[in-house]
Amino acid sequence: MPDTLVNAAERKATATDTFDAIVIGAGIAGLYQLYRLREMGLSVRVFETGSGVGGTWYWNRYPGARFDSESYTYGYAFSEELLKEWNWSEHFSSQPENLRYLDHVADRFDLRRDIQFNSRVIAADWNEAALRWHVTLDSGESFAARFLITCVGPLSAYTMPRIPGVEDFKGQSFHTYKWPHEKVNFAGKRVAVIGTGATGVQVIQTIAPECGSLTVFQRTPNWCTPLHNRPITDEEQVKIKANYPAMFELLRRTPGCYIHDTDPRGTFEVSEQEREAFWEKLYSEPGFGIWMANFRDVLTEPKANALFSEFVARKIRQRVKDPATAEMLIPKCHGFGTRRVPQETRFYEAFNLPHVKLVDTRETPIERITETGIKTSDADYDFDMIIYATGFDAITGAFDRIEFRGVGGERLRDHWADGPKTYLGLMSAGFPNMLTIVGPHNASTRCNIPRCIEQNVEWVSDLMRYAKARGIARLETTKEAEADWSRHIEELAAGMLYTQVDSWATGINSNVEGKTVRRILQYQGGAPQYRAKCAEVADGGYVGMVLR
Ligand SMILES: Cc1cc2nc3c(=O)[nH]c(=O)nc-3n(C[C@H](O)[C@H](O)[C@H](O)COP(=O)(O)OP(=O)(O)OC[C@H]3O[C@@H](n4cnc5c(N)ncnc54)[C@H](O)[C@@H]3O)c2cc1C
Repeated sequence: MPDTLVNAAERKATATDTFDAIVIGAGIAGLYQLYRLREMGLSVRVFETGSGVGGTWYWNRYPGARFDSESYTYGYAFSEELLKEWNWSEHFSSQPENLRYLDHVADRFDLRRDIQFNSRVIAADWNEAALRWHVTLDSGESFAARFLITCVGPLSAYTMPRIPGVEDFKGQSFHTYKWPHEKVNFAGKRVAVIGTGATGVQVIQTIAPECGSLTVFQRTPNWCTPLHNRPITDEEQVKIKANYPAMFELLRRTPGCYIHDTDPRGTFEVSEQEREAFWEKLYSEPGFGIWMANFRDVLTEPKANALFSEFVARKIRQRVKDPATAEMLIPKCHGFGTRRVPQETRFYEAFNLPHVKLVDTRETPIERITETGIKTSDADYDFDMIIYATGFDAITGAFDRIEFRGVGGERLRDHWADGPKTYLGLMSAGFPNMLTIVGPHNASTRCNIPRCIEQNVEWVSDLMRYAKARGIARLETTKEAEADWSRHIEELAAGMLYTQVDSWATGINSNVEGKTVRRILQYQGGAPQYRAKCAEVADGGYVGMVLR
């Protein structure tokens, strides 16, 4: 190894605290990044807040947590042996199985020995003289590394609602992300769920039959469509494995790396009968096809979007017996697919159960949490348990929770104060040697995430290899490249209906101070185009970056 990376002698002298690379987070991204860097012979330490690997699937243990990507499209693609030996049991497998899979990956590739658990990174400071990052943990320990790679997760900074009295409640209460590891019993209990996003939907439909009573507090209804999950038969298992090469090839071509690809037809280019039949078919099929494989203009043309939204509204009216409840469950302020589409299994039917009640918090706002329950503007509800399905400070939240200080002590939070500024969504000017896997502005959060994570990690690993081979100790993007990329991101999003809607994808979160201005946080050009851009940068000798 050249002495441009932390050299062997130095590593020996400070073996416990200096590494070639520090990785923050041991989810899908962190595990794979560790695997790749170690393969290159670099010394790596991963710091992880949790006590185990798995990220999303370590934390979100709430009842009903499961994939909305087809399981076999979500697993890692990098190891043929892993693909061969792992059998997914369901088309959309649940959290316990997903976590078992990631535990298996960690064991199979002997990853745990380089991961320090129960270790939250609170700060990272760039030292220009030493060309190193100094990383501080919540324990007070500190470590140094030439490269810092963040794998902190797009949905890992959970948010509690800003409602007074949260601390006063005397019953059981849980945020879905911080779900206990022990089994929670709902039988006979009076349960409240606050939130009806993708997580709320999964919880509600799962626990509704068990609870004594269930009251759902909804601020914004979502357009939910059927998941149609089922077990994978032995015969299907064989076919899935035989088809892996062709499937991954397909995933490389589709914009979101799903098995679902946009239908090239426009909504109004077909007859009414043909349109209805197509939409009925999509509604009866599993997964995100209804969102990703719909007519090409459903997410861009207001008229097409309104017509399809009306189709889904009809379905909701058919499935929910009480017309007033059905109307409350139909979104009125945003069209289908402009916010993340929760996939459901008998979610709407849950509201037909006599002990399930829906409260519209726009009509009757929650005023406070009390010792015994929830007080709205028109009623006092008593509960044994409150479940906060109130989501995340998405995409940038986990970054904001770490004090990153780059060149001259500039804080990343300040650099991104008016919205993220990045190059390829993988780095920012003024923060040398820091790479951001699944960062803002990259394609991953519009993606079947592991597919984009693999691309991000492989690109970064190639960059590390390039640096190692050429004795490069410092790499940074230029302000110009950063400005160009940030402008490109804005241009790609123009015309997308989702940009006109408040949601986590546009950076709005009323539970987080200052997250009130819509931002373009995602790359909208599709994963194939993003991949091509990244390849172009690398093939050109890392254009837009200064390497020395
Ligand atoms: C309930 C749920 C279901 C989902 N289902 C799907 C799906 O079906 N398909 C899909 O494509 N995506 C899905 N997602 C998105 C999901 O986040 C990604 O699939 C994927 O898990 C992201 O992997 P990651 O490694 O980037 O982040 P994560 O899995 O979130 O891992 C990040 C890790 O970083 C750690 N960390 C963060 N900050 C620090 C710090 N300061 N110090 C130390 N450690 C830190 C966290 O503890 C966490 O373990 C889902 C998300 C949720 C919440």
